[in-house]
Amino acid sequence: MDSSVASDRPVDSLRLDGNAAAGMLHELFAPDLTAGRAKCAGCGTTRTIGTLHVYSHGMGMVVRCPGCDGVILRVARTPNHLWLDARGAISIEISGQS
Ligand SMILES: [Zn+2]
Repeated sequence: MDSSVASDRPVDSLRLDGNAAAGMLHELFAPDLTAGRAKCAGCGTTRTIGTLHVYSHGMGMVVRCPGCDGVILRVARTPNHLWLDARGAISIEISGQS
C-alpha cells in the first residue's frame, strides 16, 4: 500500500456506537419535515419538501420530484414499523435550531 496516499477510513478513536447519533437524528426527524428541502437524485434540483408531489396509498406514500418525476422518498407503514426510503434524495436539509 502506498503510504503517501491519505486514507479515506475514519479514525478509530473518533468512532462511537449508533446511540451517539440520537440527539442529531431527533433534530432531523422530529420537526415538520415539509419545511425542509430535498435535493433530487434524478435532476439535482433542491426544493422544499412541501412543494413535492405526493402519491398516497394504503400502505404509505411516494414523494416525487415535480421537475423530473423521480422518486425522492418512499414511506410505508406496516403493522409494527414505519419505513423510510430516501435514496432518491441526495440530501435533506432541515433548518438548524441551535
Ligand atoms: Zn428531480
